Amino acid sequence: MTTSNTQSSTELHLKSARELKAGLDAGEYTSLDLTNYFLARIEGLDGQINACNFVCADSARAAATAFDADSADSNAKSDDTLGVLAGLPLAHKDILVSVDSPTTAGSRMLEGYRSPFDATVVARLARVGMINLAKLNMDEFAMGSSSESSYFGATKNPWDTTRVPGGSSGGSAAAVAAGLITFATATDTGGSIRQPASFCGVTGIKPTYGAVSRFGIIAYASSLDQAGVMARRAEDCALVLEAMIGQDPRDSTSLEHPSLDLVGAINSLKGDQPLAGKRIGVPRDYLDARLDPCVSKVTSDAIAVYESLGATMVDVELPNTDHAIAAYYLIAASEASSNLSRFDGVRFGHRATDAEDLDDLYEKTRSEGFGDEVKRRILIGTYALSAGYFDAYYIKAQKVRRLIRDSYRQAFEGCDMILTPVAPTPAYKLGEKQDSVSMYLGDAFTIGVNLAGLPALSHPAGFSKDGLPIGAQLIGPAWHEAQILAAAHAFQQVTDHHLQEPELSKMSAQSASQEGAL
Ligand code: GLN
Repeated sequence: MTTSNTQSSTELHLKSARELKAGLDAGEYTSLDLTNYFLARIEGLDGQINACNFVCADSARAAATAFDADSADSNAKSDDTLGVLAGLPLAHKDILVSVDSPTTAGSRMLEGYRSPFDATVVARLARVGMINLAKLNMDEFAMGSSSESSYFGATKNPWDTTRVPGGSSGGSAAAVAAGLITFATATDTGGSIRQPASFCGVTGIKPTYGAVSRFGIIAYASSLDQAGVMARRAEDCALVLEAMIGQDPRDSTSLEHPSLDLVGAINSLKGDQPLAGKRIGVPRDYLDARLDPCVSKVTSDAIAVYESLGATMVDVELPNTDHAIAAYYLIAASEASSNLSRFDGVRFGHRATDAEDLDDLYEKTRSEGFGDEVKRRILIGTYALSAGYFDAYYIKAQKVRRLIRDSYRQAFEGCDMILTPVAPTPAYKLGEKQDSVSMYLGDAFTIGVNLAGLPALSHPAGFSKDGLPIGAQLIGPAWHEAQILAAAHAFQQVTDHHLQEPELSKMSAQSASQEGAL
């Protein structure tokens, strides 16, 4: 590692994709230097936040070295859009299978599991030259909103390590916020990209259902799961998402769509009123007493910023979203109970050792391998799908889902996008939400989007009095991710919430390890 170069660039973890790429092209550092820089930050800081389940240092260094050798040979300066990402490190949520490391979905059930193939998202990002450094912690099988249900221990919020980072993609959000990595993949079944992005002060987008292939993403609820990305900046999310999207023959629900020119939409923003003519819908009944006052304040401030950028605020109604939590937790649990039946001790991962017969093997393996929240979901889902209850629960929930989808469709007749809070509160204390239902209630603003299959993002919009980050959510009509990313980019041109960094991240990786923080 050419330490002299990277030591003089101590702020590399705050830089954008384009800035990082410019340094690479100018020869200020190599891809291997960048890789080593972020590996050192992971080594120095991750002990405080537990964001990484696995670090793939060897394969990352090998890929970076090969990239550097290739670029020296071809002397290539990439100016195509996705060429910007070539040679830059990223990390994946530990739910995307990859051959370079184990994949566990945060569960004992998959402890030590190694996939023989890469998820399509992993392969696509590798194809544009990105280098995977680590697999990031998460709630077990993505079921949760706090990242406390991981078999590998809770991830902590870098802004206050006594607090949760949100979930289920808490490792992805915490890693980006602490500058362990510039970009992280994540998945969002019911808010798992947007809520942790809000709690950790980073930008995160969940695309339209079908935009990104689910092949190789360990399934939780197949009709809701989508992969997306987190980074400090909306522009970086646009770049990485653009590399991820596209039809994949191995996922029949994936689609090619012409409107997904994400980076183009950002590049075509113009002037100091870049959102002139845009109507942003605000569901006023979302801004009621259920919200922590600091979330109301940050949301009102965000509205003022969008107005200053030329957008017009309009009132919209989302009448059926009150029922979203109940419908979501029935549908997601039902699909989970089916998807997780594949973990039986025979084909994947954990296997109980002292089973007497096949039934006993299933029972012991699943009792030992799954944590409490996962078992709870499997039981609820099995109940909701069982003969006699199917119509009353599962079918009813699907009907509510349709009504929710129709509510959004109607709302978008009067506006181009919708602005809401992401979560009713900022990050809460580790261990604070002991009963599942109080945690489920925190998903009120995010899960309707999944039920309707829409694109939505969370971007940093301010801080609480105690210095905890708070995000704002922009929801678009299906296949309009370009529009919400461009709006968030415009917001980030006139604000700096997304550029703030927690104290923990300001410590150099070296001083963190010297202080025995590991
Ligand atoms: N909190 C929600 C759940 O537990 C969302 C999880 C997710 O989006 N993966 O199901």
